[in-house]
Amino acid sequence: MSYLRKLGVRVVTILLMLGSIPLSTYQAQGQGGVEVENATVAVDFGKTITFAAKIKSPLPIQQVSLLFRGVREDVTRVETVQVAEDGSVSFTYDASLNMFPPFSQIVFWFQATLADNQTYTSAPITFPYNDSRFPWRDTTRSNVTVHWYAGDDAFGAAALDAAGAGMLAMNEFIPISLTEPVNIYIYSNISDLQNTLMLGGEEWVGGHASPELGVVLVAVAPGTSQSMELETEIPHELAHVMLYRSLGSKYLSQPAWLLEGIASMVELYPNPDYARALEIASENNSLLAFEDLCASFPADAGNAYLAYAQSQSFVTYIRETYGTTGLGRLTNSYGDGFPCELGATNALGTPLSQLDSRWRESVLGQNTTGVAARNLFPFILLMILVLVVPIWGAIDMLRQRRKRAKESE
Ligand SMILES: [Zn+2]
Repeated sequence: MSYLRKLGVRVVTILLMLGSIPLSTYQAQGQGGVEVENATVAVDFGKTITFAAKIKSPLPIQQVSLLFRGVREDVTRVETVQVAEDGSVSFTYDASLNMFPPFSQIVFWFQATLADNQTYTSAPITFPYNDSRFPWRDTTRSNVTVHWYAGDDAFGAAALDAAGAGMLAMNEFIPISLTEPVNIYIYSNISDLQNTLMLGGEEWVGGHASPELGVVLVAVAPGTSQSMELETEIPHELAHVMLYRSLGSKYLSQPAWLLEGIASMVELYPNPDYARALEIASENNSLLAFEDLCASFPADAGNAYLAYAQSQSFVTYIRETYGTTGLGRLTNSYGDGFPCELGATNALGTPLSQLDSRWRESVLGQNTTGVAARNLFPFILLMILVLVVPIWGAIDMLRQRRKRAKESE
């Protein structure tokens, strides 16, 4: 960890002066309430969060608790804090063990029990939990802000251009928001990025989006391949954010192959390695079934890569076959809670497994007649029943008629 210090790690202190916070809530319980003064938060990203304040009250203080949580979390952490004679409190939270997502917001407040046995609650204070280990620079255009610490001004401008081009590309089939802010953080290497995500409690490779936070993290080093990487990674992760914003809570019920397929489709450079991966897997008969890519992608790197390649090709095929409206019906169908196989039937009239074999046939040139026959089997069976039952009925009727004719003879 010492190398971080050499890079000039700073502990950023966010001073939150009480003056900017409405005071009325502090005296919510009438006379004898508490006041919180000089509340400060010092974030040492991934290590500690130190809360400090001065609690002022007209009555002696029995006990003070600090309460805090991520603004999007349900669980509130509660810590009893020691109060000095002058009302000062301080608490250091171990952020290496109990992690918050990077670039999320944390809210905290105090509860004080006074000599009158009443508990008073202070107003909540929100602060950003940012990765403060790097000397971030930033530039903004419209609602997009790019943050980076390696590379010159032109690097930041190129990143903004990539974001703009990505928005333009996805605008055809994802409603894009130009008002709600998006923050793109560009790490200069993959290990800085992975390190950050692990500090946020998540391990991942490549880019990452926290769509609910409007935050995108990518790893791109300044250099000759910077524009290609920026124009691949930024549009992909931005697509996740825009999809989340247009689908809301329905985003969570989308199959992984659909979300990743759409996001991969807006990458501005087609990945030549994807085509090769598909070719090899098709030849070796090791393609993954899309039914198995609904809940999540495989954990191992090789199959995860193949899953991205397949999803991009598959969603492109769906878009070319059923159009942008078909793609929209598909996200609506999954958003309405249809299961993976039937969501496709509901939206496109074809179950997922059958779409899968049609894709293999028309895009990868596989002979899927066997698969098609298997898919058709239930229909053939139904046809037999539909045709055979009336025939039996007819035969039976004839027999009865003959029998009656004989009886009347
Ligand atoms: Zn993705």
